[in-house]
Amino acid sequence: MANFEFDIGVIGGGAAGLTTTAGAAQLGAKTLLIEKDNVLGGDCLHFGCVPSKTLIKSAHIYHQMKNAPDFGLPAVDLPPVDFSQISDRIKSVIDTIQKHDSEERFCKLGAKVVFGEAAFADAHTVRVGGRSFSAKNWLVSTGSSTVAPPIPGLAETPYLTNREIFYLDRLPDSMLVLGAGPIGCEMGQAFNRLGTRVTMLDVAEQILGKEDEDMADVVKAVMTAEGVRFYLGAAIDYVKDLGGQIEVSLKTPDGQAVLLKAETILVAAGRGANINGLGLDTIGVEYDRQGIKVDNRLRTTRKHIYAAGDVKGGYQFTHAAGYEGGIVVSNAIFHLPRKTDYTFLPWCTFTDPPLGSIGMNENAARKAGINYSVWTEAFKDNDRSLAEGERNGKIKMILDGKEKPIGVQILGPHAGDLLGEWVAILNGKVKLSTLAAAVHPYPTIGEINKRVAGNYFSPKIFSDKVKNTLKFFFNLKGRACSPEEC
Ligand SMILES: Cc1cc2nc3c(=O)[nH]c(=O)nc-3n(C[C@H](O)[C@H](O)[C@H](O)COP(=O)(O)OP(=O)(O)OC[C@H]3O[C@@H](n4cnc5c(N)ncnc54)[C@H](O)[C@@H]3O)c2cc1C
Repeated sequence: MANFEFDIGVIGGGAAGLTTTAGAAQLGAKTLLIEKDNVLGGDCLHFGCVPSKTLIKSAHIYHQMKNAPDFGLPAVDLPPVDFSQISDRIKSVIDTIQKHDSEERFCKLGAKVVFGEAAFADAHTVRVGGRSFSAKNWLVSTGSSTVAPPIPGLAETPYLTNREIFYLDRLPDSMLVLGAGPIGCEMGQAFNRLGTRVTMLDVAEQILGKEDEDMADVVKAVMTAEGVRFYLGAAIDYVKDLGGQIEVSLKTPDGQAVLLKAETILVAAGRGANINGLGLDTIGVEYDRQGIKVDNRLRTTRKHIYAAGDVKGGYQFTHAAGYEGGIVVSNAIFHLPRKTDYTFLPWCTFTDPPLGSIGMNENAARKAGINYSVWTEAFKDNDRSLAEGERNGKIKMILDGKEKPIGVQILGPHAGDLLGEWVAILNGKVKLSTLAAAVHPYPTIGEINKRVAGNYFSPKIFSDKVKNTLKFFFNLKGRACSPEEC
């Protein structure tokens, strides 16, 4: 049997790679981690979740300061934002988290960390600089990067991506955002709130295309009310660098020609797998436009090489990457056949209001041919939401034909956190009646979860049939006033 230096080698020190490395090393596998950049943490820590949520918080506070009178506070004359200070705050949050993702920590867990760009020399050997490392199993977790759509002129135009946007030294006066998906919408709203004039462009007619239209449209309406302009269903003719300004020419769905100019353009119209230079072709690891092809145990077309996280396409979230990292440890190290199951993988777009989802939404249920029903509760009917000044949005609970919950969407304050209860309910197969009967603290936004379940039971419990039966058995006297008196 061949003698390899490591039990497992991991290429890419982001969410997927770090989870696998920590799990494998702590369980006694001789583990190698190779990272191209000179720090660990990947996109999430340096160019994704952490900087974006830190930026969103600053934008939220500035927005609330501007709207102080809505909270009974005196209006304030605010100075403009100094973006370099926001950028400094972003860096300091990253620095704090970086300690958790340090080389020392992984070394203490028992893994060897090597910095440099990895490429396969053969199916068990990877070269980094002048050095070679062999491992029995490999994980490719090299993440994804912005893909610029093939619009004439875009490649010749300087544009921003998620790698630059958090580290600008000043706030752009105006910005075109190409792509109204989660990243585009989060960044578009945040920059607009900070004072940049933002225009969003997308070929699709709906923002946040994976979400149900009724939910996505509320986000669009809120952003529009805040001053963001949208061109949806836009056919972009070209992008041109005018030197100091970017020009975009497009046609609206009704054929109107529009010429837009802005100081800068953010490209957030899709992600592509980071596979260039890895030498996958030479070792027979197949991939397509989505990313590296894997089976449900995350094995590539070479069974001892796994792929996890953004590089394989699919659900491109940090928590999905972490989950997949755990699956790889089970399969590669312990040969325990563990399959991926994304049925109840939650996600959240952190616009304001945020939009969170778990399980099937209406679009998905319709596509699957499920005879579903929808139960809702609006945030404007939640006492705490009103106290917080949050009137937008609702929770939508989707039940299948047997009245079992198959999905929940939440558009409203703390949507991502509110999903936590549904994560437990749906994965734990908890009965809806348990949720509806469980006492929730008052006044909390979380009561909305109990209320939506209650809305399902109310018509059944308070039906005329039930009332008449109770009247009969307990000799109840019925209404104390007639409906006309109310
Ligand atoms: C702006 C933005 C906001 C986001 N917000 C959220 C959010 O709120 N919630 C959420 O769940 N997700 C969010 N995401 C998505 C999340 O960041 C990704 O899903 C996650 O980082 C994927 O982890 P990964 O391990 O697959 O890849 P990455 O984190 O990208 O890690 C890949 C690593 O591989 C390294 N690498 C690449 N090639 C090589 C090579 N040849 N050799 C060695 N190393 C290599 C890279 O340098 C990188 O460090 C956001 C993304 C963006 C861009």
